[in-house]
Amino acid sequence: MLYTSTRSKNSTCPSQEAIVQGLCSDGGLYAPADLNVKVSPEALRGMSYQKIAETILKEYLSDFSTETIQRCVTSAYCSEKFDDPQIVPLTGFSDGVFTDLWHGPTSAFKDLALTIMPYLLTASYQGIGKTGKIAILTATSGDTGKAALSGFADVENTYVTVFYPENGVSAIQKKQMKTSRGANVCVIGVNGNFDDCQRTVKEAFASEYVKNACRGVTLSSANSINIGRLVPQIVYYYSTYLNLVEKGRIKMNDEVTFVVPTGNFGDVLAGYLAKKSGLPIHRLIVASNSNNVLTDFLKTGTYSRNRPFHETISPSMDILVSSNLERLLFLESGNDSGLVSTLMKQLDEKGEYTVPASLLDSIQNTFRGFWCTEEDCRKEIRALWEEEQILIDPHTAVARNALRQYRAEGNSEYAAVLSTASPFKFSRDVLSCISAYEPEDDFDAMHQLAEITGRRIPAGLAELEMLEERFHTVIEKNQGIETIAAKMRELSDD
Ligand SMILES: *Cc1c(COP(=O)(O)O)cnc(C)c1O
Repeated sequence: MLYTSTRSKNSTCPSQEAIVQGLCSDGGLYAPADLNVKVSPEALRGMSYQKIAETILKEYLSDFSTETIQRCVTSAYCSEKFDDPQIVPLTGFSDGVFTDLWHGPTSAFKDLALTIMPYLLTASYQGIGKTGKIAILTATSGDTGKAALSGFADVENTYVTVFYPENGVSAIQKKQMKTSRGANVCVIGVNGNFDDCQRTVKEAFASEYVKNACRGVTLSSANSINIGRLVPQIVYYYSTYLNLVEKGRIKMNDEVTFVVPTGNFGDVLAGYLAKKSGLPIHRLIVASNSNNVLTDFLKTGTYSRNRPFHETISPSMDILVSSNLERLLFLESGNDSGLVSTLMKQLDEKGEYTVPASLLDSIQNTFRGFWCTEEDCRKEIRALWEEEQILIDPHTAVARNALRQYRAEGNSEYAAVLSTASPFKFSRDVLSCISAYEPEDDFDAMHQLAEITGRRIPAGLAELEMLEERFHTVIEKNQGIETIAAKMRELSDD
């Protein structure tokens, strides 16, 4: 499989180069040049999560050797990193299942990609004959940052810098990042929102000033703009499906709908790739909070970031520019890079674009969007706990609500809701939904939540309270490029 830019026609490259580069030099994203991969779920029957991962990665990352893929998979999806032997277990509820994606080291779904990506990146780097340092720039809305810091800690020749919105992440997310281990990591708060952080990282890739500061240092990214993030996420759509067949909830080849709490559109795009590869997916439901830019887009075909930005209790979805949507536009338009360039230019200059009616039509065949208010999100957490003793986090609750709205339109096929974070990661909000307690302190809330529900606090969160914060830098949003250039000079000097 070869990869090509969403914004220009001519060049293609193998996956290793795309993984090392992260972002294309024309500002586009790498997308499969020809989506001809077919993986039938029948062929994966009875396989472990690791075996399914090997099979799918081998198809999408076809320039890796089988041995390398195996090594990457077994190093990532192991009992030292995941506290459930199934890696991605399912929890049944009254309207389908939750696919629990939070059993990794940082208790959010980003771990499924970021435990394996350092191995893929270093193998790619060697594979294309590069040497020297790799600087990994990452913007985070809360969960990617910690997952990247954890995945890359002390990985040789890699240096990770994470930018997070100083006032846009939960206290626990912030503490997770600021206490990160590793001599090769750095965490910087930005007085701005996630979109400001993401823009800084994207601009750095295109900046001559940063490039000149790099002298022998290669820039890369751990955001879902990197296909090394995206491809591993295809695996759990398959594992969920096979697990459902095994449990007798569906028959092989029945169509299933997946409901995905969405921010940057990476997770749900992996679902789209799974569908394209032959997994029987009926619909992909894009669930949003009050930053409902995608809900509007999927309804009207107009994407407009000209709207107020809301800080919500599902902060990892507080995003107005969903980067990976660009890949969907490209793939669904039959690789029309001219169209994508035009639309992205309009987004950049006017803050909005409208896709042609035919493209909207074909997107709507698979995708539906729903959003809910903070109050409805809270109600879902409370209802599920009271009625079924299942505890979910606010992101998952937004998706649960989207499924409810989808059902109200008369759809009855089997549904899997992606559960993207442990409820303990958002203890204070979750606790206030299910009880009258409202502690000031996040760790008090965590303990209360454990006590009331009888659920175990994940180890990585339990230890946080005792850890020392190591990082304290906060910058203004217009200082990003200078900060990155200075960092690159520092790296190329020693
Ligand atoms: C990142 C994240 C999301 C959104 O995923 P995207 O791939 O950005 O759409 C949803 N929920 C949680 C908990 C997350 O960390």
